Amino acid sequence: MVDPLATLKRAEQFVRGMNERFGGTVFISETVADIKPTIIDEQAAAAPPAVKQAHEQKDTGTVARTEQNKAADNQQENTVDKTWPESPDLATLDQRINQCLRCRLGETRNKFVFGVGNPAADLMVIGEAPGADEDAQGEPFVGRAGQLLNKILQAVEFQREDVYIANIIKCRPPGNRRPQSDEVDACEGYLFRQIELIKPAVILALGLTSVNTLLKANHKMGDVRGKQIPFRGVTLVATYHPAALLRNPQWKRNTWDDIKLVRRLVDEARGKQ
Ligand code: SF4
Repeated sequence: MVDPLATLKRAEQFVRGMNERFGGTVFISETVADIKPTIIDEQAAAAPPAVKQAHEQKDTGTVARTEQNKAADNQQENTVDKTWPESPDLATLDQRINQCLRCRLGETRNKFVFGVGNPAADLMVIGEAPGADEDAQGEPFVGRAGQLLNKILQAVEFQREDVYIANIIKCRPPGNRRPQSDEVDACEGYLFRQIELIKPAVILALGLTSVNTLLKANHKMGDVRGKQIPFRGVTLVATYHPAALLRNPQWKRNTWDDIKLVRRLVDEARGKQ
């Protein structure tokens, strides 16, 4: 391959020789040293088409990715009717949000688990998130834990149909892991609208994760159970999750006390109406 610098060097020497021989009639304005940066620049400009192209492609790719991200964001937003906060009733709210993809859990769910029960219930039962059975059936608190919840409610003469049962998160976290904070942030507004529409007298929060997620706190169960805690204009009572009771039957005594408190509070609220 021809070395352009060596060629120029030879040309410079030739011209200088001619100048010396013919009295400077041949004029050269630039030495190799002057020209070299130019050559390098030109080489850079010439060689770089591939590089430039790569940069152009990269820039185009960045723009394309940004557009894709925007489209994905829009698509996620578009899966929810933006008027959901003004939904006049539970059925409308469900219809407006049940295609939600506002967090990653929407991509892995089988069924959206909105909630079930009496839309004018005095008692609202709130758990953390759907498990495998709930994800399969689209209903909260089914399976063994759900059956135990039904028995606990029946022990103080609530039927499942009398109360309203929901979770903070509407889609199952994979592997039954705890919901992450951004998932809670994305989803809890739906629960808050459900509470506004149902207007229960009492909320029974099941399980420490549920309690601490609702209260934005880091309590121990012993600190909060058996108490009346103000929450969004409603009295909240905390107790153990039925799934935890299945593993720890020694907690049934405390749960029995908590559910009796719930019964009393609901009766008192009804008495005031
Ligand atoms: S968990 Fe909630 S915010 Fe996330 S996709 Fe499901 S409904 Fe939407």
